[in-house]
Amino acid sequence: MTLKRFSIFVAFLLLFTRAISAQELEPSASKLQQHVTYLASDELDGRRTGTAGANEAAKYLAREFERLGLRPAPATDSRKINVMLARYLQTFSYIGRVELGKNNVLSVRSGETLNFRVGEDWMPLGISTNKKLDLTEVVFAGYGITAAELNHNDYKGTYSKTQVAVIQKGTPDGDNPHGKFTTAGQLRFKIAAAQSAGVGALLIISSEDDLKNDSLAKLHYDNAGLAGIPVAVISKQTAEKLANAKQVTLATDVVRIDVAAHNVVGVIEGSDPVLKDESIVIGAHYDHLGRGGEGSLAPREGEIHHGADDNASGTAGVLELARIFSTQRPKLKRTLVFIAFSGEEEGLLGSNYYVNHPLMPLDKTVAMINMDMIGRMKDRKLIVGGVGTAKEWRQLITTGANNAFELTMNEDGYGPSDHSSFYSKQIPVLFFWTGTHNDYHKPSDTFEKINYNDEARILSLVARIVRDVDAADPRLTFTTAKSDPPRGGGFRVYLGTIPNYADTNDGLLLDGVRDDSPAAKAGLKAGDKIVKIGNREVKNVYDYTAALGEMKAGQEYEIEVKRGEEKLTLKITPAARN
Ligand SMILES: [Zn+2]
Repeated sequence: MTLKRFSIFVAFLLLFTRAISAQELEPSASKLQQHVTYLASDELDGRRTGTAGANEAAKYLAREFERLGLRPAPATDSRKINVMLARYLQTFSYIGRVELGKNNVLSVRSGETLNFRVGEDWMPLGISTNKKLDLTEVVFAGYGITAAELNHNDYKGTYSKTQVAVIQKGTPDGDNPHGKFTTAGQLRFKIAAAQSAGVGALLIISSEDDLKNDSLAKLHYDNAGLAGIPVAVISKQTAEKLANAKQVTLATDVVRIDVAAHNVVGVIEGSDPVLKDESIVIGAHYDHLGRGGEGSLAPREGEIHHGADDNASGTAGVLELARIFSTQRPKLKRTLVFIAFSGEEEGLLGSNYYVNHPLMPLDKTVAMINMDMIGRMKDRKLIVGGVGTAKEWRQLITTGANNAFELTMNEDGYGPSDHSSFYSKQIPVLFFWTGTHNDYHKPSDTFEKINYNDEARILSLVARIVRDVDAADPRLTFTTAKSDPPRGGGFRVYLGTIPNYADTNDGLLLDGVRDDSPAAKAGLKAGDKIVKIGNREVKNVYDYTAALGEMKAGQEYEIEVKRGEEKLTLKITPAARN
């Protein structure tokens, strides 16, 4: 072979290789479709955290990571597992099942003892605190709502722990979903109101003729903390028999069972000898709502919620980006950590677990990119959250974005998905989302409705951003985002705290405090646990919200917090919410 011919051969070879690489480095709509079709199939049964369907999904993701040549994250003590696929799993537990214990008693004595049958005449709630109480008085307290801002109080007297409050379901507005009692009328707030009034237990009269048809009678735990007092639902007949009773025995015994769930984690090590110690997290949750129930917007339980957009689309995105970055040469300088989270729908459980048990050091995690529902793009519209969490984001995103997308950029790093957990640890985050739709959280969120071509285009953008984050030297600069106006609640005051969603029963843990907020001025910090505001004890986020409802703007309150071993009393002055 002559030199000239050899050169042509080499040139041809290079051209050929480059052509293949270029194509392999592009997100593929058909590969996305394959992943989504499987993840959202009937076989995986809606991927509810802790179920066989979710575990099958985890296995599939681990297998894909292995096939793409990703490494498991460095093993920590709890992860010295030799089973190949299991090495990609980060396992955590949460309360996934609730059962009745053996010691449930509701009885009245007036002459003879009348025992009510658990499951027929009454039923403790899954969130009920377990306790045995001898009660001397039954008090009826209307709807059991306390809402200072609405001038409504169903607890007018003074109460003691030997009293049990009996209340109705619903609100004075009936079922109006836009009524003014939508917040104060929620179960958790009714419980907080009862606790604050000082009664020892709360019984809620069923709205159904047959107790078994009442949703409250279905044992369920929301991983948002115990009620603090025994709480049960009772039948209408039981309520009548309880009227005027002087001796009531109430014992609640609910067994809450830990269930294992798995984040799936795969790593591509960086090529730079120094920068490879730093990492970029690319994540999406793979769990969904199973057959409905908590979180579902379907009219009844039982049908498979396929969760193609929410969030098989984002999960497929993680797999495609893993494929692209494992193919690309040279490899990125920094280490890429791909995480498919579980427990998102139950309250960001998986990402919350990860940031508290990180597999790569958080102080060397330079950014987290979250994709949740990226399969339904319409009219080029794409929402990017978290742009206020690093000084460089806005410019980095818009550079070269051309007219490919009509971007809506939100500053806030908090939000209803897994990036929130990382932002609370002061890591720059981005959140990609194509918006909500009619099939959201319904069985009809199916694979054939996904817009795969546009999803591939979104992933091209994400890949480009990841490369730019990797190229940034020094790394991105974290900034506290200007927060969007606080949502919901309908309260008049604002403190600027960021509650943690994880299960706590002995106070409200703060993930963060917004800049320049009343909470920041009071000296509250991330990691503090609020245990008391004014005279109100705070055991969970609901007690806290109820306390918030009673506060007045401009007035100073004492707030008690636990900071590590220390207990501090600070002074806070709520601001008016506008
Ligand atoms: Zn969802």
